[in-house]
Amino acid sequence: MKTTKTLTYDELLRRLRQKTYSDDGFLGEGLDLKQVIAEDMATIGAMGITYQQLADRIQYITGRADHLCNEWDLANKRKESIWDRIKEGFIVDKDWKVTWVSYCGYQDCPWGCEGREALSDSDYTVTRISTGKSVFFSELHPHLMAKHSFCEAGTPYRLDPKEAAAVLGVEPGVNYSPSYASYKVWHCGCSSGGSGYTEEEYKESLERFLSWSTGTDKPKPRKVLESGINQPAPDGVTIKVLGDSALVITRKRDHFEDRIEKIDGSIVRSPNFCGEVSFSSLYRTDYKYVLPRAKEDVIVTPLGTFKRSEMPNVIGCLFP
Ligand SMILES: [Zn+2]
Repeated sequence: MKTTKTLTYDELLRRLRQKTYSDDGFLGEGLDLKQVIAEDMATIGAMGITYQQLADRIQYITGRADHLCNEWDLANKRKESIWDRIKEGFIVDKDWKVTWVSYCGYQDCPWGCEGREALSDSDYTVTRISTGKSVFFSELHPHLMAKHSFCEAGTPYRLDPKEAAAVLGVEPGVNYSPSYASYKVWHCGCSSGGSGYTEEEYKESLERFLSWSTGTDKPKPRKVLESGINQPAPDGVTIKVLGDSALVITRKRDHFEDRIEKIDGSIVRSPNFCGEVSFSSLYRTDYKYVLPRAKEDVIVTPLGTFKRSEMPNVIGCLFP
């Protein structure tokens, strides 16, 4: 992670103020950044905890909720709206109910840091069921707290460190850093290949996709199209695989969505296509998820024959 070296204090303040760098701002008018940071540091210190603990705890709780949501979505096979289900909330370790909203755009760190952890496209609400108390924060907060000792102030996104510690259950001296595991899944690379596409147009689209997703300047989509290995597939479906890229040719959308569960041993995450689909490109990547601290998560039993360890990602982080 890099920080923009040329960022001046005045420019930082300009970015933190309302309606400059973000709609709601990070620091309310009339508030002094250094004083806000000093007062929150004093609060944190008096509790005997650290910002790193708070950040780790947020990433654990939201990461577990995200994984439970992914499992639910796979088991549900898109019969119900995932967003309706998220509104109900996912329960982590019996006591933390997590709901969230995600947006199309990203908010980046006003300090100019780079990397996925310095971006947010989601706002979370975590409610501690046993007390009924909630906190609201953005996906950027773990980064703001751990790297900049900042919880915002004078804005709707202010996360009071004392309230956060109480609701999230952060105690002195405990290491809350999440443990991760991962496995391979196929992701839909793009939703191109609508009924209006010719094969030539599709090849051009696939080339752009491969360049983007693999970082290769000159990918060879024709090679993917022509020299892949034909995998056993349901009627009406042809799958060509080359390394970690694949092309799926289907006559109808539901041939893909309903029938293909695995390619080359890895689970396929059903893509959200619109309309009829003739071609779809996929790529295989790691799905990284947060392991439970306690074996107390409320688990949705998946349908079908998948093993729990093979559940794929569903929303977010399609491109790690
Ligand atoms: Zn930053």
